[in-house]
Amino acid sequence: MHKVHLVGAGPGDPELLTRKAWRVIREASLILVDELVGAGLLDAVLEGVEPRPRVVAVGKRGGCRSTPQAFIERLMVRAAGAGERVVRLKGGDPLVFGRAGEEMAALAAAGIGFEVVNGITSGLAAASALGACWTDRRCGAAGVMLVTGHSQPGSAGPDWDALAAAAAAGVTLVIYMGVARAPALVAGRRARLPDSTPAAIVQHAATPAERSALCTLGSLVPTIDQGGFASPAILMIGAVLEFALAATGDSESAGVGSPPGRAACAAARRFDDQSAFSPSSWTSLDQRSEYSVR
Ligand code: SAH
Repeated sequence: MHKVHLVGAGPGDPELLTRKAWRVIREASLILVDELVGAGLLDAVLEGVEPRPRVVAVGKRGGCRSTPQAFIERLMVRAAGAGERVVRLKGGDPLVFGRAGEEMAALAAAGIGFEVVNGITSGLAAASALGACWTDRRCGAAGVMLVTGHSQPGSAGPDWDALAAAAAAGVTLVIYMGVARAPALVAGRRARLPDSTPAAIVQHAATPAERSALCTLGSLVPTIDQGGFASPAILMIGAVLEFALAATGDSESAGVGSPPGRAACAAARRFDDQSAFSPSSWTSLDQRSEYSVR
């Protein structure tokens, strides 16, 4: 039986995959892909591979509303048990908001070996896009927190006051899945962080559609609204962005802005979000059809 590889596809640019990710994807017989992994990336990696592995889209954009986690786990266990070389391909890094914990537990419980192949998490790609360091010592950054804007099961949602306190203590906040929750974030931090605290948003980091805006906490919500920013995007908050702000000359008054070079790039290239996902050669899980062991 082959071990299952839980592989990070990185934020979008195929060149950001590790060599190991590249190899195990090419050696796979079955690839279970998440939303946020573009078809272009897989095409690049699988170039010249014959026979092509079967690609099953199991994410929201993969042709179905949302594949139940238990279904994905069963699929992996059955396929590995049937001798398939299974790659579970996830955007960014599998260990960052990627449900890899549940999948590793399911594989372990079924006695199936697995290996995580790390990828570049999108929060890091967002920092690169902004020309900002998560831990810039010039502003005494004490560390970084990767935070979800989403409510975790059984939780009332992020404790924005506590997170703002961390940010006030010099911790850079990198917020995933947070665009829709930005108003709650901004309202929740009031007592801790001033309106002038630097903030930024990066959408589609490390893809041809990358867009970014530097602003402040006070102007974050209008920046998102006026700029039409939407998921997938990373929000970053913290003094480390002062250097990005200084570098581009962008400011709160500008409201919506991108570093000049990147704005030009984004305008020059168009990215069709829908067509980039789930081409017809991929198996869609629309029908909720059970994976059949061959
Ligand atoms: N495992 C992934 C995160 C999955 S959660 C990683 O390590 O990056 C999904 C969230 O990731 C999205 O809602 C968005 O906040 C972020 N994301 C993923 N890809 C992105 C990209 N290319 N640009 C900006 N944000 C991205």
